[in-house]
Amino acid sequence: MFRSTKRRTAGRRNFEEVAAYSSNANSGLYSSRLSFYDVPPLDEITLEEFEMWAIDRLKILIEIESCVARSKSVKEIESTIKPMLLKYLPLNSSGPDVLQERKKDHYSHYILRLVFCRTEELRKKFIKNETQLFKVRYNLLQPKEQQEFVDYYHNKLSWKYISSEEKSELFEELYAATGLVIRGNLLAEGESMTNDQLKQHIKLKENFIKLPFEKVPNLVGSRSIFIKKGYAYIPTTLQLNLLAVEFQESLSTQLMRTFQSIPRLDEDDRLLPLLNNLSHNFSSVEYNGFEVDSSLASDINASSIATQAITKHYPLCASHLQRNMMDNSHLRFTGRQQLALFLKGIGLSIDEAMKFWSYQFTKNPTSMTIEKFNKEYRYNIRHTYGLEGARTKYQPWNCANIMAQPKPLKGEYHGCPYRDLGTESLIMSLNEMGIHDQHELNQVMEDVDRRDYTVACTRVFELTHKQQLATQKSFEGMHISHPNLYFDRSRQLERSENKTVTGLGSGALQDIVAEE
Ligand code: SF4
Repeated sequence: MFRSTKRRTAGRRNFEEVAAYSSNANSGLYSSRLSFYDVPPLDEITLEEFEMWAIDRLKILIEIESCVARSKSVKEIESTIKPMLLKYLPLNSSGPDVLQERKKDHYSHYILRLVFCRTEELRKKFIKNETQLFKVRYNLLQPKEQQEFVDYYHNKLSWKYISSEEKSELFEELYAATGLVIRGNLLAEGESMTNDQLKQHIKLKENFIKLPFEKVPNLVGSRSIFIKKGYAYIPTTLQLNLLAVEFQESLSTQLMRTFQSIPRLDEDDRLLPLLNNLSHNFSSVEYNGFEVDSSLASDINASSIATQAITKHYPLCASHLQRNMMDNSHLRFTGRQQLALFLKGIGLSIDEAMKFWSYQFTKNPTSMTIEKFNKEYRYNIRHTYGLEGARTKYQPWNCANIMAQPKPLKGEYHGCPYRDLGTESLIMSLNEMGIHDQHELNQVMEDVDRRDYTVACTRVFELTHKQQLATQKSFEGMHISHPNLYFDRSRQLERSENKTVTGLGSGALQDIVAEE
């Protein structure tokens, strides 16, 4: 399944020897867009595909995880991940790439099983997010495809669609038993529907299945379905939850099996590093947008980064660092690294960085002279840009890197404020960012209490960009796992609103000096 070059190792099975007996593509497995993933992959893929496919699926699961943690409704989750699905894991119903798309979906699911089967907590998360993904995708299917999917798995599900004759014969009973539930599921708050409209909808859109009533004790108990001769009749509206339960149970059993076979993989020197890398947690996918967008970076300079026009796009960690650095005319080592790399990531050139840091450190002549700055700090800033020492191209730190640093001591400001600030200071900072509503503040603080710091940060992003996001329904992937992602998203939103961010020319440094 995984090899790109033929390397034979004693004791290892070579897939070319078994590939002949079967191939997923020829088995009819990819006949449906949706899958219960109950047949393992059999064909070979390259190591590169192995890694890339897993990362692409992981991006989607991370987004779902974040949406669920922020109590998003199913509809909101759908609209958030639809554009991501199109980009990372498309599943078209037709076209030249259909087979490859389904193969990628199939393999990426199985690869992540290997990654997330190892602990109870990871298994739970994986099942929860995969089930949500399954639900979203089921809703994207055409009714005919949904029916074909159910038919394909009829042995597993013991479901049967009723014929149109049976539906017409039982119509009044079906309407009387399920009308209320269907109406409740169809309508959003404030919407209404007459009885005739509801009847029409049931007639045209609801495909009923029947299955032994003991399979659905909850629905029987809630008296929300029609039962006849030992069969429960379930409308389309209620079928998804049943399918999701089947999916969940099947995945849970299979994940345990994967877990039990994991020791056999421990000898594999090709896969283990990849799997370990992916399994750190659900936030392990890094933001890689460090190709600075020149149109966005054109107004980034030593002066502009000290103005509200730019700092309003900073996440709390960056604004907290920069504000304290400017107030104290100094910043200790870890904070300097964190802030300097963030600024480099937003497009601050080395020359402008030098102007900025030297001005801020020496603006108060009693604390530092320019000679002292040049002697003690210049090298450090240039090093950050890969111009000194080993000339390493350092990347801006992501949230996981930031939180892996030692916690800030007194007089230090690095780290993640959602984790490191006290409750009072954090609420003050949130107020400064424009969040005053008590309910919204409570939501953020609940995320913090659960130690979901990136979820808290993502929620703050949403709260502080409410209006722009309302008009940008298809804005892709909101979960914040990197300070520069926060900044870039915020600026992109502003740009898409066609507002011009006013940049200051580097000469305006004098204006700031004068202001202060
Ligand atoms: Fe910064 Fe990440 Fe913390 Fe947000 S969650 S404040 S981006 S470290």
